[in-house]
Amino acid sequence: MNRLLTWVGATLALVTLLLLVPALRESPRPRSSSKFHVDARLDAQGVAEHVAAAVRIRTISHADPAEEDRAAFAELRALFEHAYPLIHAKLERELVNGDGLVYHWPGRDPKLDPILFLGHQDVVPVEPGTEAQWTHAPFSGTIADGFVWGRGSLDDKGPLVCLLEAIESLLRDGFAPERSVYVAAGFDEEVGGNAGARQIAAHFSAQGLHFAWALDEGGGVSQGVLAEVERPVASIGVAEKGYLSLALTARGHGGHSSAPPADHAVLRLAHALAALEREPFAPRITPVLREALARISPELPLRKRLWTANLWLSAPLLARVLGEDERLRPLVRTTLTPTMLAAGVKDNVVPASARAVVNLRLLPGESVASATAHVKHTLSGHQIDVETLTRMVSEPAQASPVDGAGFALLTQLVGELFADALVVPSTVNGATDARHYATVSAAQYRFVPRLSTPSDLKRVHGSDERTSVAGLSLAVDAYRRLITLGSAGH
Ligand SMILES: [Zn+2]
Repeated sequence: MNRLLTWVGATLALVTLLLLVPALRESPRPRSSSKFHVDARLDAQGVAEHVAAAVRIRTISHADPAEEDRAAFAELRALFEHAYPLIHAKLERELVNGDGLVYHWPGRDPKLDPILFLGHQDVVPVEPGTEAQWTHAPFSGTIADGFVWGRGSLDDKGPLVCLLEAIESLLRDGFAPERSVYVAAGFDEEVGGNAGARQIAAHFSAQGLHFAWALDEGGGVSQGVLAEVERPVASIGVAEKGYLSLALTARGHGGHSSAPPADHAVLRLAHALAALEREPFAPRITPVLREALARISPELPLRKRLWTANLWLSAPLLARVLGEDERLRPLVRTTLTPTMLAAGVKDNVVPASARAVVNLRLLPGESVASATAHVKHTLSGHQIDVETLTRMVSEPAQASPVDGAGFALLTQLVGELFADALVVPSTVNGATDARHYATVSAAQYRFVPRLSTPSDLKRVHGSDERTSVAGLSLAVDAYRRLITLGSAGH
């Protein structure tokens, strides 16, 4: 008995030690507020005015291309031609599939793999009925209170304009890249990118181009998003979730509502949706999240560090805990949520069919086939027709390396611009154009050099989208650094 107690005691002590040792590692870095290093020669007001002018041009993309205003895209190009004379004099510009915009800045050494900067010209519409929520009309491009206001100022005209400003100013300085630099901006990113980015990537592929890395929107630097981490967190998207929508249709006996049929389409659909809610996709810690947790761990209080520093033991339980948290759930689960519902024409008629659309965001490791199989398996016995909506379907993007040259460059840049920021890799929840370039680039990163608060993040695709004038200067400076360092030969 005594020996057993000693053994249990020794084992407990060992386990405690095993858990505590990794958890006791705290961040050695100093905590100070972030510092901006902005080029004093930059005309911040001029940059802001270019963003504002771009916002005023309504380049709205629609699921039905017939609804799009092609003239708006031509107008945006004309703005760029006027605002960036050196770019249009010295770089090669190509239009791909109509409005796909490509700039090529030839490098001094054509043997080196070029680098690729991505953006998109299109914006989402303003939801009808929400116009009054805007402080300044959404397409007015108003500059006020230190911000440029309007749709696209954050997503993605602000970053695209800053990138062009950076190139224009480098040309003004007489800079000549050693590697070729490409810029590609699609025109339908918000509806899947099949006509824009996908065609541009095919065009690059046909030319035999292969990029060292590609940089698109997606991640950024945030402060206050993670409650217990004081330092700004620079999240660099190395992967992105897949996208799938399924239409679920129930058919039953229609008829008079005074004598309801047992075989009721609406009720059958309701039961099916409830079944999907009861059978969520299993939570798990992806390799990207594991790497992110390892980097964040030293910042957390000890009680949380016990979890994050001991993933060898805690991963399954931690995945379940995160999977229950509304905000953190997308990190560990393939999510499924109903987004559209239709049935019935009159209050006293039982409809013969009912239809719902569920939207899924697939965690890396999942596939369109495995997610569809999960839904069909869960609904077996429910007599529901499951149909894939093919307009926008994408597999999750494979994770790009965190030890490659592109990631190292972004890490260096973050260190220069946001002195005490913590760099973590992430999986972007939404879809970006970057995934279309997986076949023509060794790595795809998703990061905009911009500091966001939780309130800023809600403005993307929402009301009162705006970008700070100071932040624009920072971004121009950041793109200058990225082009200068990224196009170097080594
Ligand atoms: Zn975007």
